[in-house]
Amino acid sequence: MTIYNTLTRQKESFEPLHPPYVGMYVCGPTVYGDPHLGHARSAISFDILFRYLLHLNYRVRYVRNITDVGHLENDSDDGEDKLLKKARLEQLEPMEVAKYYTDRYHDMMDALNVRRPSIEPTASGHIMEQIEMVQQVLDAGYAYVVNGSVYFDVAKYGAHYHYGILSGREVDKLLSATRDNLEGRDEKRHPADFALWKRAQPEHIMRWRSPWSEGFPGWHLECSAMGRKYLGEQFDIHGGGMDLQFPHHESEIAQSQIASGQPPCRYWMHNNMITVNGQKMGKSLGNSIMLEDFFTGHNPLLAQAYTPMSIRFFILQAHYRSTLDFSNEALQAAERGLRRLLEAVQTLSTLTPTPTAVAPEATGANAAAVAEIVEKVFAALDDDLNTPVAIAHLFDAVRLINAVNDKKEPLSEDAVTVLKELFDEVMVNILGLRDDRQASGQVGLLDGLIRMILDVRATAKANRDFATGDRIRDELTRLGVAVKDTKEGSVWSMVNG
Ligand code: ZN
Repeated sequence: MTIYNTLTRQKESFEPLHPPYVGMYVCGPTVYGDPHLGHARSAISFDILFRYLLHLNYRVRYVRNITDVGHLENDSDDGEDKLLKKARLEQLEPMEVAKYYTDRYHDMMDALNVRRPSIEPTASGHIMEQIEMVQQVLDAGYAYVVNGSVYFDVAKYGAHYHYGILSGREVDKLLSATRDNLEGRDEKRHPADFALWKRAQPEHIMRWRSPWSEGFPGWHLECSAMGRKYLGEQFDIHGGGMDLQFPHHESEIAQSQIASGQPPCRYWMHNNMITVNGQKMGKSLGNSIMLEDFFTGHNPLLAQAYTPMSIRFFILQAHYRSTLDFSNEALQAAERGLRRLLEAVQTLSTLTPTPTAVAPEATGANAAAVAEIVEKVFAALDDDLNTPVAIAHLFDAVRLINAVNDKKEPLSEDAVTVLKELFDEVMVNILGLRDDRQASGQVGLLDGLIRMILDVRATAKANRDFATGDRIRDELTRLGVAVKDTKEGSVWSMVNG
């Protein structure tokens, strides 16, 4: 197969370092908040890679981490740890926050039929490995200690290696960037330097003893340390969202180069972002949609609830390196497309092959068409996981299946078998699509019923019949449905437990 290597900026044929084994590392979630659509895109993109490598008969060790310590927004080494902030706000032990959102992430990814990785290491569980790596960088002379914190010396690294090799950033520009005055930054020799170890402020709860201070590791470090531990000093593929290219992955390359004497991996792969009306989707932009919102439909940006499989199909209808623009129309189209595909699979399972004597010429032509579809589907997947093209060819098969079912086209028994195998392997095993309409139909029915009841309650209240309004709310509460009255109307949710 070919994959686009972000490092060389071209498609390359994929050759594992140690066949038949493939080592693959993907940056996982930071567990201080609920997963949103962007999480789904990254997880699904690399799930396809994982599944396709398995289809090619490789043995895959897929490592995807959980960031439960030290990750601060974007490229900042300072500011407040979000997980700690959340823990303080909700009066929880930080590990309770991490556990809760790890479980949430797993639940959502399971619903999206994302296969779990082979190893899912946590940053907090690998402090020793990270301390060891910091020491190696210090010993090599590419880091310095200030007030108990350790920083990577990007200027020195840049004199011998290419910092910016992955992202295309110019190190000179990075080094001459104006210093901003955020507290703590002054410890760095250059604004481009990044923390390998941070001394903990007194209020910081998550802290570990190290040779330099009681503190915690810098965010970029965990992936380098855990990738090396489970996949070796150099492994095959490192993946993540495009927003991680700089500074996260760029810094991973630099640390590993110094600590291990070589770059951490051979191929870098990045999935593109999700946009809303052409604008990047993000929490800070106020246009971010949590995955749970999609499943319940409870978000002003959503016209309805969508099944997890509609979300998965929507994501797969764009190539992983293209931006994907969210809209209700696009999701509804994905929902319809998926339904057509699922119905065709159902039709295929009971399709009666045409007897050999009937229309032999057309039967032969259709068998050839089926063979061509199979070839094109796999060629598309082989070409840097081009799922939209593969799916388009599956729809060629859908048209043929429906025509055969309507007795407009003949199809031999062998060709029917080939199609069944195609859908089994591609739709089920590689694309990971399954029929979740029934389960979500019940969710939709429940939502519809409760909304109807809440409408009745709103009418009662408008007629100043507060007794009925209160009775409806109390009855719903008794059934485990919490009702909240907002300016935009009433919303409901299931009470946990
Ligand atoms: Zn990472």
